[in-house]
Amino acid sequence: MAEIVKLQSVSHLRKTMDDYFVRLKDATETGSKKIAWCTSVGPAELLYSMGFEVYFPENHGAMLGAAKVADNYIPIAVAQGYSPDICSYLTSDVGAFLANETPLQKSGLASVPKPDVLVYNTNQCGEVQDWFEYYAKHFDVPIFGIITPLKINELTETIISGVAKQIEELVPELEKISGIKFDLDKFKETTRLSHDGCVLWRQVLETAQNLPAPINFFDSAIHMGPIVVMRGTKYAVDYYKILLAELEDRIKNNIAAVPTEQIRIYWDGMPLWYKLSSMAKLFSGLDTCVVASTYCNSWVFDDLDPENPFYSAGLAYCKLFIVRSDEEKQKVLEKLMDDFSIDGIIYHDSKTCARNSNNRFGLPVRLQESTNIPYLEINGDLNDSRCFSEEQSIIAIETFIDQLKSRKQ
Ligand code: SF4
Repeated sequence: MAEIVKLQSVSHLRKTMDDYFVRLKDATETGSKKIAWCTSVGPAELLYSMGFEVYFPENHGAMLGAAKVADNYIPIAVAQGYSPDICSYLTSDVGAFLANETPLQKSGLASVPKPDVLVYNTNQCGEVQDWFEYYAKHFDVPIFGIITPLKINELTETIISGVAKQIEELVPELEKISGIKFDLDKFKETTRLSHDGCVLWRQVLETAQNLPAPINFFDSAIHMGPIVVMRGTKYAVDYYKILLAELEDRIKNNIAAVPTEQIRIYWDGMPLWYKLSSMAKLFSGLDTCVVASTYCNSWVFDDLDPENPFYSAGLAYCKLFIVRSDEEKQKVLEKLMDDFSIDGIIYHDSKTCARNSNNRFGLPVRLQESTNIPYLEINGDLNDSRCFSEEQSIIAIETFIDQLKSRKQ
């Protein structure tokens, strides 16, 4: 089996994430800062600028998946009337909450940090609203939502300004909760830090355009933690400078994530969190590097502009891949296929996340017609391992990669 070359930056990553959880713990225990819960592509910059510590339940859901414990908790939420067909981040997170268990206990937190306010954006999906409403009701705290149109084709002025206005309207409500007066300069600063962190994260992902790629999707899925939970802070910026330097060094020294790289794959959709390392080994053993994914690219908000923070937030959070029409997604993917020299596409049809499964409305066929790049669809789920038939998927992946190798020869 081919070797996987581990990134040295992982120790810095661990420290960056540990420090983040310590800040949440301190805020919880001392009350020194109010705590806002936010969706992963919600207005983190505004919340950080207004003095909140920001907690992301989706990150918690991914932690439960990666720790392979989500299956213990999903039935608990199902017993409370939540369908097993809805987002398994939601069901595993709510189930763990009801069981009073969390991987955060390893970081010294007794439980998830109690929110003072919850803020969501429906740009990714509507399920986050139901998810956050559960906790708003449980903790009896205020909840605010930004409602974003879906399947956006042309990104019009009306759409951008409409979302920007909703973000701006949060300010007086958040002031009441945080007790801190909104400061435009602070918001400009968190917007600048978010922009800079996103640019660095984009550069990290773009290093995989190199042949061979110095980083693969399975690494990126782990190293994306800071851009999800610390967007708008210097901690994310500092971390991605370290990671980028390591990857540039790898390129200079011709060090590949998969040393025997022959085939380059684009992964569409969510990771299989509970199978991250075995999938990394599987692909590596097939001389294959998964060099790109729209999932990791989802946290590139480089349109954020500190000189125009509200408007540019409206733009950045509506331009996101997941909010766009299939026509726009196809254009993004066509460019990506070229930029990353892709040989084949794997679509992960994630049972409980329709919005991140782009294979359901003909896109694979249309994309194959326009790019002549073959594809494979596998069925699974982000957190619910019972939806993933491992043996069948491994056979399908092995056969697909064999075909790509023959095609290349
Ligand atoms: S986008 Fe998918 S994974 Fe994320 S919260 Fe919505 S349903 Fe869950």
